[in-house]
Amino acid sequence: MTTTVAFIGLGHMGGPMAANLVSAGYRVLGHDLVESCLSAAVAAGVEAARSAAEAAAVADVVITMLPAGRHVLSLYGPEGLLAAARPGTLFVDCSTIDVADSRAAHAAAEAAGHRSLDAPVSGGVVGAEAGTLTFMAGGEEGAFAQAEPLLAVMGKKAVHCGDAGAGQAAKICNNMILGVSMIAVSEAFVLAESLGLSDQALYDVASAASGQCWALTVNCPVPGPVPASPANRDYRPGFAAPLMAKDLQLAANSLRAGGIDAELGLRAAELYARFAEGPGADQDFSGIVRAIRAASSNTTDALKGSTT
Ligand code: NAD
Repeated sequence: MTTTVAFIGLGHMGGPMAANLVSAGYRVLGHDLVESCLSAAVAAGVEAARSAAEAAAVADVVITMLPAGRHVLSLYGPEGLLAAARPGTLFVDCSTIDVADSRAAHAAAEAAGHRSLDAPVSGGVVGAEAGTLTFMAGGEEGAFAQAEPLLAVMGKKAVHCGDAGAGQAAKICNNMILGVSMIAVSEAFVLAESLGLSDQALYDVASAASGQCWALTVNCPVPGPVPASPANRDYRPGFAAPLMAKDLQLAANSLRAGGIDAELGLRAAELYARFAEGPGADQDFSGIVRAIRAASSNTTDALKGSTT
């Protein structure tokens, strides 16, 4: 019997993910508050539901791909999806949300007699369209096993990270590494420039030495050394700075809640929040190199002056 999927949230990510499930033969009932998102999904073979609850009521699996935890919790909440669904429905939340919100969503789903999995993704819109996302999942083993065939359609890899909220935890830890390392790489390029070292020379050394990392060798923040990096196309995303700011804010929430002495993670959250509200609003997160360079112009001039 065909598995019926309710897909709630058909935006940049959810739209193509739902379309890939349709292409793989699943019956998908979709819902989004934005008419253009819903109609694009319908054009890809998704059946339009008048409400999220209407879709959940007939589904075997309910997938949510929403902006933030408050959207997930309010949709799950009283008279919402959990109440509408048949007992034993599998709820898979692919949104990136706060770990505490995710655990609350799991608890509510289980209290209502359902199975639940948090399964945030990395890979961006390109990965959602190509079906090459990476899922990091949290929840009980049986829920993960039930979700795996669907995750395999929408992605190339799914890692079961542990219990409720473990997928979200993995996501924010990984992106905290990425945010901090992108700032470190960008600061190093600006320092190198001030010392008269070319971008290519720093790249050639650091990419083959202990400074090597993804932020340098794949998403290099200066144009030239890595032709495919967003820096070569005027910092068009890629991974948009506001999404990095969001993920670092989630990491900062958990750092504060856990009393973790992580000065760089908290500072990275501040720097990306400021960048995303200003010039980075529509840029790739590697564009932060320009903000660092702009803020450093006096220092750079002074350094240049001291060497001449
Ligand atoms: P988006 O804003 O394009 O899509 C979210 C959709 O949810 C919107 O279309 C919105 O109308 C819909 N929505 C909100 N409340 C709803 C409700 N009550 N009922 C039905 N629909 C509702 O966002 P996105 O880029 O698709 O991202 C979705 C999630 O994936 C976010 O949590 C984001 O952090 C995460 N994510 C995004 C990317 C990316 O590159 N865009 C990468 C990794 C993870």
